[in-house]
Amino acid sequence: MKRRLNLNKVKVSRQTQIAPDVFVLSFPRPWDFVAGQVLGIGAHETDEARLYSIASGELDDEVDILYNINPDGKLTPWLAKVNTGDHIWVSEPFGSFTGTGEPAWWIASGTGIAPFSAMFRTGLTLNKKLLHGGRTLDTFYFNEQFSNGLGENYVRCCSRESSEEVYNGRITKYLNEQSNLPTSEKYYLCGGAEMVVEVRDILIAKGVPFDNIISEIYF
Ligand SMILES: Cc1cc2nc3c(=O)[nH]c(=O)nc-3n(C[C@H](O)[C@H](O)[C@H](O)COP(=O)(O)OP(=O)(O)OC[C@H]3O[C@@H](n4cnc5c(N)ncnc54)[C@H](O)[C@@H]3O)c2cc1C
Repeated sequence: MKRRLNLNKVKVSRQTQIAPDVFVLSFPRPWDFVAGQVLGIGAHETDEARLYSIASGELDDEVDILYNINPDGKLTPWLAKVNTGDHIWVSEPFGSFTGTGEPAWWIASGTGIAPFSAMFRTGLTLNKKLLHGGRTLDTFYFNEQFSNGLGENYVRCCSRESSEEVYNGRITKYLNEQSNLPTSEKYYLCGGAEMVVEVRDILIAKGVPFDNIISEIYF
């Protein structure tokens, strides 16, 4: 998504490739934010920024961004070549897809795990269940932190590869198999439009009120 935002220059502290075509980029945190919020990134001050969820915690010294390269895209092929000490342009954080201490289900596909990483690293883990959907076993970004912190409440739904550690199938299959989804809890959905719409429909069919479903669609 492209948006006209005021962008300020920051110096990149680190860029780490964590899976094929997937990176975590870090820079010193210049402002306060609420876990779940996004920011805009551009290569230049006048660029139309692309939006990214913050993946780090509210009190962390650095801001982490998780992103994958879009080969035909304008920003991400350039961003992937950025090194320590280079500058990028970022907006202030904004957005209302923010976490709370209430019991909730966090449901993500692909890099849509990023805001839940921010909520996790901010300490909002009590009574949370995290479902992460991905095609292959290397797409469960940050799986170590979630496995250690959430235990059985962290479910990796892998559609094209299998292992003992993951549920074999898509998030939608997993949800369809659940007979008693709590209807009074909040469901936070983040990722591509297809996943968000399909999951929302399943939740509604299983009795979850529309108002308990909060979505962030990446496009
Ligand atoms: C709220 C929100 C949060 C997000 N958070 C994340 C995140 O945490 N991590 C993440 O990886 N992504 C996130 N995204 C997606 C991200 O903003 C970008 O869409 C993505 O990184 C692509 O950026 P890009 O500049 O490389 O590609 P773009 O240049 O935006 O191109 C995207 C696609 O559009 C096509 N395209 C570009 N220009 C044209 C044109 N003129 N005509 C036709 N087609 C065109 C390209 O071929 C390409 O396939 C988020 C999106 C939203 C809305």
